[in-house]
Amino acid sequence: MIDDDLMRKLRGKVHTDEWTRLINSVDASHFQINPSMVFVPEDVTDVTNMCQYAYEREIPLTARGGGTGLLGQALTQGIVVDISRHFNRIIEIGERDVLVEPGVVKAVLDKELKKKGKFLPPDPSSSNFCTLGGMIANNSSGAHTLRYGSTIDYLEELDVVYSDGSISTVGPSTPPDHRCGSLLPMIFSKLGLIAASYPDTSKNSSGFRLDALVRNRSYYPQRVFAGAEGTLGIITKAKLRTVDIPQFEILLVCEFQDLTSLLLSIPRILSFHPSAVELLSFGRLSSGRLQHNEKGLTDFPTIYVEFCGESLTTLEQQADLCRSALRQSCISSEVLSDRTSCNAAWNERRNSLNHILRFSDGNKKAIGIIEDTVVNPSLLEEYIPFIQGIYNRYKLDYVMYGHIGNGNIHTRPLIDVQSTKAVQIIEHLAHDVFSKVRDLRGSISAEHGDGLARSRYIKQMFGADVYWLFVQIKEIFDKKNIMNPGKKV
Ligand SMILES: Cc1cc2nc3c(=O)[nH]c(=O)nc-3n(C[C@H](O)[C@H](O)[C@H](O)COP(=O)(O)OP(=O)(O)OC[C@H]3O[C@@H](n4cnc5c(N)ncnc54)[C@H](O)[C@@H]3O)c2cc1C
Repeated sequence: MIDDDLMRKLRGKVHTDEWTRLINSVDASHFQINPSMVFVPEDVTDVTNMCQYAYEREIPLTARGGGTGLLGQALTQGIVVDISRHFNRIIEIGERDVLVEPGVVKAVLDKELKKKGKFLPPDPSSSNFCTLGGMIANNSSGAHTLRYGSTIDYLEELDVVYSDGSISTVGPSTPPDHRCGSLLPMIFSKLGLIAASYPDTSKNSSGFRLDALVRNRSYYPQRVFAGAEGTLGIITKAKLRTVDIPQFEILLVCEFQDLTSLLLSIPRILSFHPSAVELLSFGRLSSGRLQHNEKGLTDFPTIYVEFCGESLTTLEQQADLCRSALRQSCISSEVLSDRTSCNAAWNERRNSLNHILRFSDGNKKAIGIIEDTVVNPSLLEEYIPFIQGIYNRYKLDYVMYGHIGNGNIHTRPLIDVQSTKAVQIIEHLAHDVFSKVRDLRGSISAEHGDGLARSRYIKQMFGADVYWLFVQIKEIFDKKNIMNPGKKV
């Protein structure tokens, strides 16, 4: 319980009732953990006061945004700090960036930016619910990461409250505080190790993003918070770069006879420089009770190839050339160029995970653990048949979709959750797939993060030396280990 002295200082509400704790005990993962209380801060001073209080008593604190994390990132036995309620102001929309509080929902920001012809490109399918704080902390991305990159690429400056309650503004043009200052020499002496140990992929949300902190001899300390899952501090303000909305987009929809012919076509498709290449939900469902279409699955492996830019004629030419190049390998193709058809098609793609999370066949559910791996797209021809081979070995049905242009495959086995062997199967699957991912220099998480489910695989993925750096970084930023413990290290 909170003492009277702190209660007098706080402006925000402290909830200890069962209902509020229950709501905050779940996210979009299969975990459930009851927090001891839920604090809804009204301002930065509230966050600071609560951090100081927790620091003195060594009580764990976990920031929470929309609660749409897929790996239990926002769950804790300690205090949930609900940022979504009051930290939801869009402070300023500038020419090339936007200043926001972290509780702003992504779709709300999109709507406001659109009025100025701008957008923040990372586009998770959960945009209607997820917050900017959660997106930064998970380094989220989406269908357009192929062209635009992930949230980390848009992070310019952050205001952060550290575990001891101190406040800092972190960015390339602000003098580094003592934590960010101690990080630099540590990283600088290990750049070779980092370059050799990090995945050879265009996206990564596993571990801490030490590979992105030093570029062209400049230091970008704010990026250490991207993908850190709130384990280093609570973000209270963020400046994010924005870009102009492209004037036109064209969508080429291609259906393939089988996954092999689709995979063989990916390098050719990428040579046309599309802005997105997305695999629609596809799977193997042996049970007669499951109809593909009812479950939002396509009958044949299908991809969307999007081209966007300022000249419709150029885009049409690009799409036509790409379509001709694929004529031999796909069984049907269609070009969509009007906004309404494109939006309808994208809505279908964005609903993939919603369909899958509702999936059930008796006791069988689509379980996430290997649901977000990424490899260099040139290796998909080897990697996807490998995953299918493992599913065959364990006699598992599965679903598969994702950002195939980036090599990021969202796949979930259907597992009988009542079976005594369920946990064992999931562990074997994770071991086999993550070992392969490491061999291919991929990542165990492209965009969803590590959370409760994957943090224990981080050491295996990065190796003992880089993992030791992670431990030291956690020590520098949060020496009492109260910021979202149990995640990352
Ligand atoms: C249907 C569905 C579709 C999805 N599609 C995508 C997708 O396309 N791409 C993708 O990348 N992800 C996707 N996700 C995953 C998830 O939506 C994203 O990771 C999202 O950005 C999480 O945001 P949130 O506000 O819900 O964060 P939460 O779940 O509330 O929290 C996530 C993490 O962020 C931390 N955090 C939150 N706020 C702060 C803060 N202010 N300071 C410090 N740490 C903070 C939390 O402690 C936690 O560790 C999807 C999820 C669902 C359910």
